[in-house]
Amino acid sequence: MRAWVVDRPGPVGCEPLRFVGRPIPEPGPDELLVQMRACGVCRTDLHVTEGDLPVHRTGVTPGHEVVGEVAGIGAAVSGWALGDRVGVAWLRRTDGTCRYCLRGSENLCPASEYTGWDADGGYAEYTTVPAGFAYRLPPDVDDVALAPLLCAGIIGYRALLRTSLPSGGRLGLYGFGGSAHLCAQVALAQGATVHVLTREEASRRLALELGCASAGDAYDMPPEPLDGAILFAPVGDLVPVALRALDRGGVLAVAGIHLSDVPVLRYEKELFYEKELRSVTSNTRDDGREFLELAARYGVRATTHPYPLSGALRALGDLEAGRFDGAAVLVNDL
Ligand SMILES: [Zn+2]
Ligand SMILES: [Zn+2]
Repeated sequence: MRAWVVDRPGPVGCEPLRFVGRPIPEPGPDELLVQMRACGVCRTDLHVTEGDLPVHRTGVTPGHEVVGEVAGIGAAVSGWALGDRVGVAWLRRTDGTCRYCLRGSENLCPASEYTGWDADGGYAEYTTVPAGFAYRLPPDVDDVALAPLLCAGIIGYRALLRTSLPSGGRLGLYGFGGSAHLCAQVALAQGATVHVLTREEASRRLALELGCASAGDAYDMPPEPLDGAILFAPVGDLVPVALRALDRGGVLAVAGIHLSDVPVLRYEKELFYEKELRSVTSNTRDDGREFLELAARYGVRATTHPYPLSGALRALGDLEAGRFDGAAVLVNDL
């Protein structure tokens, strides 16, 4: 099969990824072999490729938003059949036995493994997934439109939960890429007023098209105080900006896995009146199943830009440069 591998992590302009020939992987006893049909391009793939995240597996194949078809079944797996449509996401495995797993916080499991970081992911013709962490997908939505839901969508949904937004609340979204534009659709369907704050002109247009109440620059104040905000842009400088935009009791959730340094916070302006700053770490499988169900019910749709599998490096470069709104998706055209 053909697969992209992270050769030497570094700037995407310096070709850190190589497109190589690799044997088709063997699924373990509890795993499925998945033939990739579509794989979303997530900012985390960029962090793995460029070395913002430490190397967990040398020569790893990135990609953790995979829609594919079951092409092989491990001996210990039941409930899946060859040809079933299947989703592969970021959280690949947890131990199921630690204090966090036992209390329903498997996203915090210290032994967790991630697709496209600890194990080879979806920038390839085939990948594998532990059957217990594979998602069943709603029918009637095509592969390309579904792929970004599997990380961008699920993480955006967890971030929304982390804001504890009151019913009918005012939500601010800082940055409006793949994850934010899906999160916005859920929040709007649930009756929130959504304000988008981003430097990208095309993203501001998309936000208004989707029904957001306003779209301004990332450093502008929203037109009204916010009950909750989510920082999707990996920019620590925006943390105090977003905290100042919160109303009393408001919560800011930082959605990214990587954030540049947060400047000094001023207690009185940025934290007092019980404002809260929270991080978001991965997701649980329950978050994933809940989001996929809501996405189907609300008709959440990703704005997508397909690239052939061979165009992964170009897709990552375009993501970094902000050359599209919504989400890039690799299509297995081999
Ligand atoms: Zn655990
Ligand atoms: Zn992701």
